[in-house]
Amino acid sequence: MHELVVASGNPHKVEEVRSVLDALGWRVHSLHDVGAADMPEPEETGTTFAQNAQIKAVTYASRIKRMVLADDSGLVVDALGGEPGVQSARWAGVDGDRATRDAANNAKLLDLLAGVPDAQRTARFVCSMCVASSDGTRIAQSEGVFHGWIGHEARGANGFGYDPLFRVRSSGVSSAELTPQQKNAMSHRGSATRAIAHSLARLAFAAQ
Ligand code: IMP
Repeated sequence: MHELVVASGNPHKVEEVRSVLDALGWRVHSLHDVGAADMPEPEETGTTFAQNAQIKAVTYASRIKRMVLADDSGLVVDALGGEPGVQSARWAGVDGDRATRDAANNAKLLDLLAGVPDAQRTARFVCSMCVASSDGTRIAQSEGVFHGWIGHEARGANGFGYDPLFRVRSSGVSSAELTPQQKNAMSHRGSATRAIAHSLARLAFAAQ
């Protein structure tokens, strides 16, 4: 069986990736599982999701000498010129635990979009993913996009981050109202994970 480590301190992300890769025959470990939970996170100095995903994957793989998958993701809001983008995680500049930061980010988003009509509230989640081999070489990269718009109030209790404000383009429900399975079937992270799994399978096949 193939194995990899998902380099993220966000347990929601690890679970989303795991549930897709499990079904494709991968054994997925968290940083915690391999005793690397306390390793300092590399600085995300990239200006794109792809650059930051690569920085994380290559840095962790070189340190722990295992195959590592990392993602960098965020919300791109058209009416805000693409913000919060790569700054999504700490956009409101508030310290504290994940729930505190998420609440401050969502409050900032609602404030900045106050008075913006529905037709101009279009947005998308983007997830860039990178896999590095145990010697720290980048071996695969993928990207997934989830289209929608920003609602006027929080809805739903699933997911994390901006999920309660994000309305899915195809149905209008919030992504926090989706079950984990429904979110994975259509989300940026679900698509990026399936795409990178197929790239890895092709590489394994070509190496035979
Ligand atoms: P990262 O850990 O640097 O990739 O930061 C990603 C940030 O983007 C998260 O902290 C969330 O604020 C936001 N984000 C990314 N993916 C999602 C998602 O699936 N749902 C809600 N928010 C997300």
